[in-house]
Amino acid sequence: MRRASDPLVRLAGRVDWLELVVGFACNCRCRVCSSGFLDPRTRLSNDDLAAWLGRGRKLGATGVWFGGGEPTLHEGLPRAVERALNLGYRRIRLQTNGLRLAYPEYLAALRQAGLTEVALSVKGWDARSHDDMLRRAGAWELLGRAAAHVREAGLQLEADVLLTNPLLSRLPRLVEDLARRGVERLTFWLVSLHGAPDDDDVPALVPPLGRLRRPLREAFARAARCGVAATSLHTPPCSLAPEDRDRYLHAGRYRLLVVVPGNDPFLAEESPMERGEHPAEPCGACAIREGCLGLRAEQLRLFGTAGLAPVAAPPRRRAAAGASPPRPSGPGDGTSGRTPERNRRPRRRA
Ligand code: SF4
Repeated sequence: MRRASDPLVRLAGRVDWLELVVGFACNCRCRVCSSGFLDPRTRLSNDDLAAWLGRGRKLGATGVWFGGGEPTLHEGLPRAVERALNLGYRRIRLQTNGLRLAYPEYLAALRQAGLTEVALSVKGWDARSHDDMLRRAGAWELLGRAAAHVREAGLQLEADVLLTNPLLSRLPRLVEDLARRGVERLTFWLVSLHGAPDDDDVPALVPPLGRLRRPLREAFARAARCGVAATSLHTPPCSLAPEDRDRYLHAGRYRLLVVVPGNDPFLAEESPMERGEHPAEPCGACAIREGCLGLRAEQLRLFGTAGLAPVAAPPRRRAAAGASPPRPSGPGDGTSGRTPERNRRPRRRA
């Protein structure tokens, strides 16, 4: 019998998905990422992966998401995918920069092991912007090859798109480009300063919430025209057009337990990456506050609450954000997974 002090006791019955941050090693050095501060040798061992996969199933998880760092650099990944399949996970997801998936033999090994879906991290709108953000020449080209191979392999293909200031105006066209490449689902993630990225230019990449509404309106509309599902994370409903508010994903809807090497496991919505503040103005009078994780501290610090207003009533055409949530396809990230800020408390990065 589990002791009352077992930290997992509180999670029983609250978990659908397990995210395993397999390690901090990466083959890119993204401007918005804190990995420059993290030890790339820090990782979950093969035994850790096996143990957590077992624990996840006992807690009720039926989906597992492998993230990082860059999870394809962990040599135990194919084995862990196979173990997940044998343990009864129905959805086995890989979140990746796509570099290694450009090589069909490696992707074939993962597919053979049981991988069901791939989420590619997209941080630019073309080769120059994407490669610059990743600080890795050729990354966009490899991403494109990865997308083609994933589709050829018959796996579900998603994209996690990082919302930055320069990308916003290009987002609608990027949506069409990704749809042409066979992406079936898009998740827009708002860039964050969380985790202290090592690039002084990063704060200029963070758009104020008040700038999101129009480009996201157009992006959601184009995604719909292309038959691609689209949602957004870290974009409070008041920052979206009324007809888009049900696109907002409250991280708690994933029922996602995150395991990061060297830290205690945590539910995604407990991360400072996800949970923000509810200032009296505008949140005090907001009708959907319960379904909103609030405003990130950096947004409040940089921009205040300009352009935001409380939501007076649930949108009419669809269910209100937080009242009858859309079922998330699965956890995703526009950047790649979660890493702790300087390896202290569990954090997510973007
Ligand atoms: S609770 Fe606050 S941040 Fe969330 S939608 Fe309402 S006003 Fe916006």
